[in-house]
Amino acid sequence: MPHTPKPDGSQPWQATVITLFPEMFPGPLGVSLTGQALETGLWSLQSIPLREFGEGRHRQVDDTPAGGGAGMVLRADIVAAAVDHASSSSAGRADIPRIYLSPRGRPLTQEFARELAAGPGALMLAGRFEGVDERVREARNFQEVSIGDYVLSGGELAAMVLIDACVRLLPGVLGGSESLEHESFENGLLEYPQYTRPRQWEGHPIPDVLLSGDHGRIAKWRHHRSTELTRARRPDLIASKPREK
Ligand code: SAM
Repeated sequence: MPHTPKPDGSQPWQATVITLFPEMFPGPLGVSLTGQALETGLWSLQSIPLREFGEGRHRQVDDTPAGGGAGMVLRADIVAAAVDHASSSSAGRADIPRIYLSPRGRPLTQEFARELAAGPGALMLAGRFEGVDERVREARNFQEVSIGDYVLSGGELAAMVLIDACVRLLPGVLGGSESLEHESFENGLLEYPQYTRPRQWEGHPIPDVLLSGDHGRIAKWRHHRSTELTRARRPDLIASKPREK
């Protein structure tokens, strides 16, 4: 999908993914909130097929690791050709951050998603096999970002996670910004428990306070439950300084 301007003339948030499997996109990003936002032009998505930059009859993109060992590594010259191609289009705007999805990277956090969402977009490189030749990562200025301490088969799902986390923060994507304000991580706490009808379910009532109509008491209760949950499950969040609002 090309990066076309929004109806008001401004540029949409641009997601560009260099991948061996462009057919994976938009995938889950094409449905629900992110899908609607893609359709209405609040963000744009372009996948760049790495295979097209491959060498020879088989469009080879990888080779064996220098120094030996298992698996294959994506070649620096092939990846660089794809990156340089992306850079010659609008996806290559100098101010677009370049991200190589990698288990070695800085952990993806809500804070980082917010930073990225406030910018022009991201040019992402999805690795496969044993990863990407280190030289191209350095020479083309890619920072590494991880979506967690586990190893996936490829960077495409990680890119989708990153894109989803950013797109839902873009103005106009979610109905009310209120729903963002109280979400997990937004104030350094996990979200309080949620309830909805029926009022009684299998003998479990909705906590009385939530039906009291007293907004002050409700806010206090929610804050208390948020703090309790965070202390029990993620004490590291309490220990780190909460974001100033
Ligand atoms: N040999 C690599 C290592 O041990 O760090 C793992 C390579 S993995 C099989 C293939 C690709 O999946 C990586 O190049 C990266 O793009 C992606 N990937 C795997 N786990 C990831 C994670 N936790 N976060 C982001 N990307 C990941």
